[in-house]
Amino acid sequence: MPEKTLAPYAVSVSAHGRQFAEPAPLGRSEFQRDRDRIIHSGAFRRLEYKTQVFVNHEGDLFRTRLTHSIEVAQIGRSIARHLRLNEDLVEAISLAHDLGHTPFGHAGQEALNACMKDHGGFEHNLQSLRVVDVLEERYAAFDGLNLCFETREGILKHCSLEHAAQLGDVGARFINDKRPSLEAQIANLADEIAYNNHDVDDGLRSGLITIDQLASVRLFASQLNVVRAEYPNLAERRLIHEIVRRMINILVTDLIAQTEHNIGTCTPQNVDDVRTVPPLVAFSTEMQELNRELKVFLRTHLYRHYRVMRMSTKARRIISDLFQAFTGDTRLLPPQFVAKDEAKQARQVADYIAGMTDRYAIREHRRLFAVE
Ligand code: MG
Repeated sequence: MPEKTLAPYAVSVSAHGRQFAEPAPLGRSEFQRDRDRIIHSGAFRRLEYKTQVFVNHEGDLFRTRLTHSIEVAQIGRSIARHLRLNEDLVEAISLAHDLGHTPFGHAGQEALNACMKDHGGFEHNLQSLRVVDVLEERYAAFDGLNLCFETREGILKHCSLEHAAQLGDVGARFINDKRPSLEAQIANLADEIAYNNHDVDDGLRSGLITIDQLASVRLFASQLNVVRAEYPNLAERRLIHEIVRRMINILVTDLIAQTEHNIGTCTPQNVDDVRTVPPLVAFSTEMQELNRELKVFLRTHLYRHYRVMRMSTKARRIISDLFQAFTGDTRLLPPQFVAKDEAKQARQVADYIAGMTDRYAIREHRRLFAVE
């Protein structure tokens, strides 16, 4: 089958380019080069040891930020290919979207944000951008990875107006109320499809939630019935996987159909048209409701499960102890994190902590606070 050409409203080339001009890559597209740079970054490798929901050392089979990011890229690429959008760009955004996450998942981010409240706050989307723009020190000619504008705008999913004003080109859309490319919109919803479904899978595997509880969630129940009718004697692990893969498929299929409908109604002629209309990548109204029901279930029964809460509380304590110790006495910091300008010290401590893996943060806490 011949390669499908990109739709006219896809991002085909980088219209806004890189901050530092570089020769065009040979034999690969600009967005493939972005993806390759992301994969070779130190921050990407650290994703392997960062929590999604379960702390990294709790079990070898649970998702980490790394496997999560790979699943997001897989789902995003499928959607992009079907819609004749730029798969390479979706992949680059997906693989980079969580680079700025702290150790210990959302508990870690909340704790660091609280520590940084008098110093501009801490937000993982902004931090992901900071990783690729500034913090990676790998190239001779520039700090960061010098990624294309379109990849960077996709990484910056959300942003306050106050922060947007300081972010130049990628901040402008928040101020001007514009949308990002369809590729960025896909990566955003692929993220949601991936985590809702793998959290069901990991939640069941951990025993914190059960199939009986999930039978109250319509999206899960409908597929449970389908699989049980077809395979009445299926072992539980296979049953769960068969349900989860069907749920992902239903969400992806619905998203593609609704997005095709929205594009058909709105008829964007190019990428600039995409930016001026409401988001075109979307679930149907019915699927939004089913998806919301699943999210509410996960929040109530998994993310607030007492065993997850215990770990979250410990995580908050570790992050805030580290922050207080390092800002209170900078002699405790590795020299490269001691700021020349004292006003920037808190931000450098935040960069140091955000870059830690779960186990590194635990060890660092032990080194600083254990007496024996
Ligand atoms: Mg994510």
